[in-house]
Amino acid sequence: MPTVAAGPEIERLISLLARLPGLGPRSARRAALFLIKKRDQLMAPLAAAMQTALEKIEVCRICGNIDTQNPCTVCTDNRRDPSIMVAVADVADLWALERARAINARYHVLGGTLSALDGIGPQDLSIDALVSRAHDPAVTEVILALNATVDGQTTAHYITDLLHDANVKVTRLAHGVPVGGELDYLDEGTLAAAIRQRTKF
Ligand code: ZN
Repeated sequence: MPTVAAGPEIERLISLLARLPGLGPRSARRAALFLIKKRDQLMAPLAAAMQTALEKIEVCRICGNIDTQNPCTVCTDNRRDPSIMVAVADVADLWALERARAINARYHVLGGTLSALDGIGPQDLSIDALVSRAHDPAVTEVILALNATVDGQTTAHYITDLLHDANVKVTRLAHGVPVGGELDYLDEGTLAAAIRQRTKF
């Protein structure tokens, strides 16, 4: 039987922390100990923040973002360009684009990508809602900001077909050399895509 250094409450905290992405059992143990040591400065406010989030977080009924208001902060921000809608697979992608201040547009979260392997079909994603939003006359461009994977690109093609009668330009993210990247280190697929999609200097 493995030896246990702490009581069941602490062991439970550790095993829950270990389920977080990027934390294994060892780092979960370290995180738990850190939280316990910083009980007043960190653990109590964290527990309170989690409780508030648990009570207030909702999925935005327009775009699928996660927020404590519904419609979300992005959908209710009237300084955003209503003509551009960025379709993303996941809320994490929306947040990544916002962090990068990449575009001041509206979003649509699909909730994943099509995947024959995982049995994810169009009915499992928020594709109908995207198509109906794209028919809003205010929308002139839909950017498919999907992963450069087989599933991501399959989804992009599928949506592009559905949008053919909507009066919108459908674009996708460029594939190519990452900022600060060295050519010598790139894989052949990326390098070939970068050459194909070269732009005028
Ligand atoms: Zn929203």
